[in-house]
Amino acid sequence: MNQKIPVFFHTSQMEFHPKYEWALGNRIKHPESTRRAESIFKALKKEKESFDIIEPPKIALKAIRDSHNYQLITLYNTATLIPEGESFYPSVFPQRMKAKPDPTNIYHAGFYCFDSGTPLNNKTWLASAWSASTAYFAADYIVKEKGRVAYALSRPPGHHASRDSYGGYCYFNNAAIAAKLLRKKGRVAVVDIDFHHGNGTQDIFYKDDRVFVSSIHGDPRHHFPYFCGFPSEIGQGKGEGFNLNVILEDGTDLKKYLQTLKKIVIPALKRFEPDYLVICAGFDTYELDPIGKFKIKTEDFKEIGKVFKNLKLPTVIVQEGGYHTKDLGKNVVSLLSAWK
Ligand SMILES: [Zn+2]
Repeated sequence: MNQKIPVFFHTSQMEFHPKYEWALGNRIKHPESTRRAESIFKALKKEKESFDIIEPPKIALKAIRDSHNYQLITLYNTATLIPEGESFYPSVFPQRMKAKPDPTNIYHAGFYCFDSGTPLNNKTWLASAWSASTAYFAADYIVKEKGRVAYALSRPPGHHASRDSYGGYCYFNNAAIAAKLLRKKGRVAVVDIDFHHGNGTQDIFYKDDRVFVSSIHGDPRHHFPYFCGFPSEIGQGKGEGFNLNVILEDGTDLKKYLQTLKKIVIPALKRFEPDYLVICAGFDTYELDPIGKFKIKTEDFKEIGKVFKNLKLPTVIVQEGGYHTKDLGKNVVSLLSAWK
């Protein structure tokens, strides 16, 4: 098929510059830099005949509210008042049951945040809302244009952001926002192939029987987000049985990855009989990634993509992690080339 793959991206996403993060007590250069999006953009532009870059319109607040609560949105709004050049990193994380949070007070950010790697500044809202727009309008394209695939170059990423919390470099859950739109039209399967468990997406759909969520990730006993991502988390209430976590060990290569995907995730997904597919596409499974510990090679991402393409479902691919900046672009192109 010769149809170009639409890529959704807005330049305002580049206005957010997290400079550093606190990781296990160390101040390190922030891995989620704008250079990531530049790397992807550059690689896609090189293949003009395959990709169509589209600037999305602005997302309506209501579409964000479908996945996030009012307080979290208020906090990001409060952060727009942080002086230019400064960032806020919470260092007090209260016991949630006992705290009385006020999202108009930036010092209460620790109530909503769960780590010290995800700063707020006066551009967080701007870049995150535009990042959400890319995912929302990629999903909108799939529905309205009856497209077979669309890619959202969503940066900042989203899969660690839950209804009422942020962390893991994520502020709004872009994939959830896309899935909420698709959910109005049919049953949705979300598969998260980032190296890290998609805790935010799990949280948002945990009690939902119209959205099946599966995440394949590194062992949370040793890797972020540490507190969840275990196979015992299967959903709750109506959503019981519609959440599937699969852990793979450090050093996992393509062979093992595909085996797991084909034997566990895809059969479960097929039993759910979805109408739409959302892929949380993280590339920190790459062999040279400085954070992830799998051994997936550039050309392997195409093989992983083929497994999803063969499902023949209208598919929204949402950008998540991936921190080997130089090779990130070609890894994204490799995955997307499965749909060429
Ligand atoms: Zn990740």
